Amino acid sequence: MRKIAIYGKGGIGKSTTTQNTVAGLAELGKQVMVVGCDPKADSTRLLLGGLAQKSVLDTLREEGEDVELNDVMKGGFCKTLCVESGGPEPGVGCAGRGIITSINLLEQLGAYEEEQNLDYVFYDVLGDVVCGGFAMPIREGKAQEIYIVVSGEMMAMYAANNICKGIMKFAEAGGVRLGGLICNSRKVDNEEAMIKALAEKLGTQMVYFLPRDNMVQKAEINRKTVIDYAPEHPQADHYRELAKRIDENEMFVIPRPLSIDELEKLLIEYGIAN
Ligand code: ADP
Ligand code: MG
Repeated sequence: MRKIAIYGKGGIGKSTTTQNTVAGLAELGKQVMVVGCDPKADSTRLLLGGLAQKSVLDTLREEGEDVELNDVMKGGFCKTLCVESGGPEPGVGCAGRGIITSINLLEQLGAYEEEQNLDYVFYDVLGDVVCGGFAMPIREGKAQEIYIVVSGEMMAMYAANNICKGIMKFAEAGGVRLGGLICNSRKVDNEEAMIKALAEKLGTQMVYFLPRDNMVQKAEINRKTVIDYAPEHPQADHYRELAKRIDENEMFVIPRPLSIDELEKLLIEYGIAN
């Protein structure tokens, strides 16, 4: 079983990309569980067709310890298994802690046991690793493989570099590795070349370049992944290809984060000079 966490700046497209990639893997016959680790609990709605999923933390709050796997895990598109960790009440408690509570509960309930036949678990994790709480999945060894969703926008690259600092910190002790960058295009000039260069400097690879396409939003409004809503659309094939790249990936590294100077130099070289 491969345990994968998806990180990246807020709004960069983590949840959309995760669910579409998972749909692609599911089509290939893989058994996949998605665990949403964002208090927004919007990591599985495209796989569930918009069904409001009761989060693990809400279920624990309402039903106490007497929880069964079926209470928190719902079946979605192509036999995917969907869980939302949920969050603490706003202003109270640490959301990162909630993620670990959820994962521990899933472990106790046997979600990762052999009879589930899982090929993949995906953790869709909120934001960047600035808050220690969100480093929990990698700190506690719950995920072994990280992909960072990034674009050619400066703040997205800055966040990706910060996440690499977090990974580096836990890699030696915990064994977590970076599998690559997923460029989710914002149509920035020279974006593909720039993210390839960023990946190289970090000691990793750009696993895939995903074009920006309105079909993503159209499918989203219809509460579906593109693969489900418009299986013949070119964007669906892009997600299938990304799924294949991840399935075949063998490059796992401890990243080498850039200094701010190096990062700015890269932006100037690719962005402003052209
Ligand atoms: P995150 O989970 O990182 O906060 P989301 O997955 O919720 O981000 O994506 C934010 C918005 O960007 C969504 O409305 C989604 O439809 C849109 N989006 C993501 N990827 C693409 C893409 N490749 N093309 C067009 N829109 C996209
Ligand atoms: Mg999200």
